[in-house]
Amino acid sequence: MVVVLSKGKLLDSISTEIIACRKCELCRTRKNPVPGEGSPNSQIMFIGEAPGYWEDTKGKPFVGAAGKFLDTLLAEADLSRQTVFIANILKCRPPKNREPLPDEIQKCTPYLDSQIRIIQPRFIVTLGNYSTAYIFSKVMLPFNGITQTHGKTYETTILGMQTTIFPTFHPAAALYSGRYKELLQQDFQLLKRYIRPKN
Ligand code: SF4
Repeated sequence: MVVVLSKGKLLDSISTEIIACRKCELCRTRKNPVPGEGSPNSQIMFIGEAPGYWEDTKGKPFVGAAGKFLDTLLAEADLSRQTVFIANILKCRPPKNREPLPDEIQKCTPYLDSQIRIIQPRFIVTLGNYSTAYIFSKVMLPFNGITQTHGKTYETTILGMQTTIFPTFHPAAALYSGRYKELLQQDFQLLKRYIRPKN
């Protein structure tokens, strides 16, 4: 008998693997891994960089100040955490929030790839340089920095399925610059238009 697991159960099994993961040094310093969360049936997946202090403390993605701003952006685009899926390319916090190392990205991203395969999102919204560079590299798109690529759609095939990539800035950028805050708000309004079902 073939047992077909629901998307939720498949995502739970990836989370269990992540919780037990010891593939890179970040497992030594993390408090909690952060697999990601949201609707397994979501059509939109948001991908950030890595957990920060509050995400590491709570084991949930985007729960610090940047996360609060992401909640505002989602609401402005008529979305919510319950209707999207949010994950990062690294599942454990780099010490002092340093940037992800290539070796960590290589070891950790198979988990993200599995999550993408299970969810099969119609849109992948990459937040910031690291997640955009990673997703672009998977689909052989040249990446010239988030400033050049943000706010546009890139229709492509990733992991054998059709999807549209929409890069924008990491919400943390808005905490340091009013200009980035404005650009993020503009991008989310564009996203709202793109994701509206076509009649
Ligand atoms: S960052 Fe990823 S690869 Fe490294 S220990 Fe955490 S889950 Fe494993």
